[in-house]
Amino acid sequence: MHRYVNPQISTLRAQLKEPVQFLEVEIREKPPGFLLRHIADRDRNVGELQDLALDNLATWADSTLRGAFRPNKAAPSLRTGWCCHLATEADLAVALDQLYPGALADWYAWEMGVAEVTSFRDFMARQTGMYRSTQNLTDTQADQVATAGCDSSLCLRRRCWPTPGLGAAPAGPNLSVPCLEPCALLLEFARWTARQARETIQSLPVTEAERATLVAALEYSLAHPPEDVREGDTRNPANPRRIRQLRNRLKADQSESRPNKEA
Ligand code: SF4
Repeated sequence: MHRYVNPQISTLRAQLKEPVQFLEVEIREKPPGFLLRHIADRDRNVGELQDLALDNLATWADSTLRGAFRPNKAAPSLRTGWCCHLATEADLAVALDQLYPGALADWYAWEMGVAEVTSFRDFMARQTGMYRSTQNLTDTQADQVATAGCDSSLCLRRRCWPTPGLGAAPAGPNLSVPCLEPCALLLEFARWTARQARETIQSLPVTEAERATLVAALEYSLAHPPEDVREGDTRNPANPRRIRQLRNRLKADQSESRPNKEA
């Protein structure tokens, strides 16, 4: 009988040494099939982990440990404590697609040199209705949106689409799953930023030490995000993309306003 060989999986296996890490999942060969688990569980006994069936992976990936919905499956918030035994390459391809919809196909297209990337500007130029305002973002604002919105603390895909000033994010040493165009979360964040750009800027005189305190408070919030904040809710002041963007702006202002001691 002819055995079906999934080209995406065979390429993945041929290019990488075992165990393969795909976003937050470790893939090990376990003849005659494969064993999947969270990378944080790689040193735990498989017997301690909840054995998930292939059909349950999508549900598992839908929510965080705290029960919050995960709109971006590439966010570094996949629950730990599970494993999944798979019999074939075809099952492995399905499993990865359940955990990370579209990620294997994007990775394969990138590896084959046929992936189509849409730049920030080209993507926003297609927007209509309430998202049309994203076309008004300046180059600096577009860069700020990508820097804060696609930070690795929020998303593990590599941003391959360029912004006006930043280009694409550099490739790391390990396998990276490309992001080929802005996602819905990023689009919503860009819309929110465009709306803020129309607001009156209020001045708040602070000393450099006070600015440092503000940055420290924002960083603490990023490290300890409130449990009730939905990732896609840009109306919530505690949205992590909003906080990260403000933190980045304060830090940039801080380095610009610091007197040059060598001058
Ligand atoms: S646009 Fe940014 S946040 Fe959205 S999937 Fe791509 S890299 Fe991740």
